[in-house]
Amino acid sequence: MTEHLLKILVIGDQNVGKTTFVHRYVSGQFNRDYRSTVGVDFSMKALQWSDTETVRLHLWDIAGQERFISMARIYYKGASGCVVMFDVTNSSSFLSCRHWKQDLDSKATLPSGGAIPCILLANKCDLADRSVSAESISRFCKANGFVTWMETSVKDNKNITEAMRLKVKLARTYIISVSYSLGCCWP
Ligand code: GDP
Ligand code: MG
Repeated sequence: MTEHLLKILVIGDQNVGKTTFVHRYVSGQFNRDYRSTVGVDFSMKALQWSDTETVRLHLWDIAGQERFISMARIYYKGASGCVVMFDVTNSSSFLSCRHWKQDLDSKATLPSGGAIPCILLANKCDLADRSVSAESISRFCKANGFVTWMETSVKDNKNITEAMRLKVKLARTYIISVSYSLGCCWP
């Protein structure tokens, strides 16, 4: 049995739904009044990926530290994937995603030197009063080097497992290719 440990970051402005997202994914529940904590929330989830492989996810939620972005280098270190989240009813949280992505890319990379793969999540898509269109999200996603984007609703449990499955798939592909190339170079 092979086990991979993946560190996945969940970043974005305050109040977009990061903590409820992680909580929903890990425990299957929606907490309307989840207290925003100060510091980083760590959550673990083990996945049986195949008969021979388990993936242990370490989710890092920058809980309540959104304004202290200059401390982020420590949080970002060693990450193999990142989820950048915004709230579709809050256009300023969408605009901030560019800064979050740039901040991440300027402070951390994969060991290969490549950018940490990021997916963009457009959360709260259950709400009617949207202020960000699908076209602008698509354009933004391409222009800023995100792998892809998805609409999510933590409230309605829409695309939560799917988004994380994609995240793990991307990170896992990277890990497998690293161990493969190390194997090739071994004398
Ligand atoms: P964080 O600051 O990014 O960690 O945001 P929280 O997880 O604390 O969520 C902020 C608020 O948004 C909470 O009241 C959540 O219940 C609410 N929320 C999170 N996801 C959704 C969603 O998909 N739809 C709706 N309507 N509310 C959500
Ligand atoms: Mg939070």
